[in-house]
Amino acid sequence: MELLFCSLLLNSRAVNIQQYIMENIIDLKLLLSTPKTITLTTHRNPDGDAMGSMLACYHFLRRQNHRVYMIAPSEYPENFAWMMGIQECLIWDIAPEVCEAAIKNTDIIFSLDYNGLDRVDKLGEAIKRSSSKKVLIDHHLFPENFADFVLSDTTASSTCELVYDFILLLEMGHLIDPIIGDCLYTGILTDTGSFKHATTPKLFRTVAKLVEIGVDDNSIQDKIFNALKEKHLRILGHCLYNRMEILDEYQTGIIWLTKADYDKYDIQRGDTEGIVNYLLSLKNVKIAAFIHEQPKITKLSLRSKGDFSVQEIASKYFKGGGHKNASGGASFIGLEPTIRKFKEAIAETITKEDT
Ligand code: 5GP
Ligand code: MN
Repeated sequence: MELLFCSLLLNSRAVNIQQYIMENIIDLKLLLSTPKTITLTTHRNPDGDAMGSMLACYHFLRRQNHRVYMIAPSEYPENFAWMMGIQECLIWDIAPEVCEAAIKNTDIIFSLDYNGLDRVDKLGEAIKRSSSKKVLIDHHLFPENFADFVLSDTTASSTCELVYDFILLLEMGHLIDPIIGDCLYTGILTDTGSFKHATTPKLFRTVAKLVEIGVDDNSIQDKIFNALKEKHLRILGHCLYNRMEILDEYQTGIIWLTKADYDKYDIQRGDTEGIVNYLLSLKNVKIAAFIHEQPKITKLSLRSKGDFSVQEIASKYFKGGGHKNASGGASFIGLEPTIRKFKEAIAETITKEDT
């Protein structure tokens, strides 16, 4: 299996790696030079980067006469419904047979914004069984080795930033139009928290290009972030007033939600997006956890500021992963024991770091 690891993409230190990248990208370019059937996939509970990277690839590949399918394991949030082409996305949870048929009858599968097949449940099993060529474009830590072509850069702000690089590597930059630009901008905006995290001169140059070709920052921000319903502010109020605990000693904040809260406030998937970030707005909080009870599992969303790696906490204690400053995981022991376990994990990790 030929592997293309571009963690040093477009970096002058990577002279010989770049050579290898170029050879490999030539193979992929050749593969894409005649019309193919291509299935694009992304992760469960898709966010702006997941949908943005998938839709950008969808429009880009269709411009070259490929037949393109998109599959997300579960539904996308409503505030992305305006994105052009999004209604074409197949949802595994809703139509598993249709999705399975698409995976079976495809020449190439793209894995976008996820680093391992276990992140996409049954879709991952179908991808594993498929003998199609596989392309992975992602920015999560520790990518699994399952693809023939890999564009992985854990320092990238978003998968959308990498899809932009990917299009340039294929020497197809001229195909990036405002429709593709809107999709890429959406992922960059949401994964950087509107340019609060993971921004580099390279990212700003990419964004400048997108704005130059006609991406309207103001209108996209408005469509994504000013789309809440009254209940969202009520849920936020409840979290901040009744469900927040600050552990000063560990510079850690926790917000939790019970199953009863989910019923009382009619909380649906996506309704709690971004709540964890409020904890980090406290000057003395460096680590934040949003811990919420689902019907069968308890999910954790972890965030940090600075050097502390929540990825380590997520992978060591909660079978999860992600990025240094944004990770997630799950537990099967119920809400209260999970909160206790999280506190113990923080105490253990911080005490160890101090010694
Ligand atoms: P969120 O907290 O927004 O759900 O996820 C933050 C980051 O952690 C995302 O990059 C996501 O892919 C990753 N993540 C969330 N939950 C899990 C999990 O259960 N396992 C792994 N490996 N990564 C996760
Ligand atoms: Mn992402």
